[in-house]
Amino acid sequence: MSKVAIITGGSRGIGEAMTLKLGEMGFNVVINYRSERSKKLSDDLSEKLARDYGVESIVVRADVSKYSDCERLVNAAIDKFGNKINVLINNAGITNNCNFLDITEEAYTNVINTNLMSFLHMCHLALPYMVDLEEGSSIINTSSIGGLMGVANQGDYCAAKAGVIGLTRALALEFASRKVRVNAIAPGMIMTDMLRGVNQDELKALASTIPMGHIGDISDISGCMEYIINAPYLTGQVISPNGGVIMP
Ligand code: NAP
Repeated sequence: MSKVAIITGGSRGIGEAMTLKLGEMGFNVVINYRSERSKKLSDDLSEKLARDYGVESIVVRADVSKYSDCERLVNAAIDKFGNKINVLINNAGITNNCNFLDITEEAYTNVINTNLMSFLHMCHLALPYMVDLEEGSSIINTSSIGGLMGVANQGDYCAAKAGVIGLTRALALEFASRKVRVNAIAPGMIMTDMLRGVNQDELKALASTIPMGHIGDISDISGCMEYIINAPYLTGQVISPNGGVIMP
């Protein structure tokens, strides 16, 4: 029987690698994106999933920081694939990189709404379709090493990513008996647009502190996602592929 996965921010970066991995694993995929620039990327991914893996997918534009958009996203999944969701990947995220004295209330509220509230919205709306499935179900929340340690100029981002870990553990406990596993991935530095946007000299300096000597690749995170989906006894855990930067 076919299995269904929803991924937020599934168009590019880590999300793109996860979307393709879900297809390779045989899931029908609901690919969420928000910006105009990601529409074509998402449509191309959808075609690739059909061509390379023979799975079905739909592309849904939604700003997951808004509850009503998340509702539309989950409804689109149910309308297309029926009353069950096997995997929810909460991946959409943004960063400000701004010192805390200069940041505006609007900017940090946007980070909290996008990086934390969206995870609550999506769990709240998807869980009714995930509980008590015979084959079980799995939520994977993308946190960050920023959620495990402090990072200067990222107070809003670290607050959201630490909140994601709290949410992950609470839901893991609450839904363990109903066959829903809830885990988090806390990546270290991974080369995507998010890192390309930061000061490149600072990035070089940061990269030189990675014990493994290099910035991670998106495949490091999609591989971790695959492991979690296939690990039936794993719940409430935070797995951090970070090249040895921190060892929580
Ligand atoms: P990225 O390349 O900048 O991609 C971000 C993705 O999030 C895009 O697909 C974007 O979609 C989507 N998104 C942003 N706001 C959204 C919204 N309101 N609604 C729907 N989608 C939205 O970033 P990335 O590096 O792949 O990051 C993916 C996740 O990993 C994030 O949660 C990030 O915090 C986390 N992470 C990244 C790193 C790293 O070093 N790269 C490290 C630790 C954790 P659009 O293009 O449509 O806007």
